Amino acid sequence: MAPETETATARCATHGLVQATRQIPAMGFPFVVYAARRYLARRRPFRCPTCGAAIDRSSTPTRPAL
Ligand SMILES: [Zn+2]
Repeated sequence: MAPETETATARCATHGLVQATRQIPAMGFPFVVYAARRYLARRRPFRCPTCGAAIDRSSTPTRPAL
């Protein structure tokens, strides 16, 4: 199974607002191993797609209304 990619609009220090991404491992067997991997992956920061810098979403402005 391919890993899932989560995306979020976040601010890179170099590139400004970008669609930051992070990979979450797909679920599989044994369940408990993947659950732990997914939990750890969700604790990692999103990364800028251009430079790969970790992005702290706490510094991200609220999403503008569309
Ligand atoms: Zn960047």
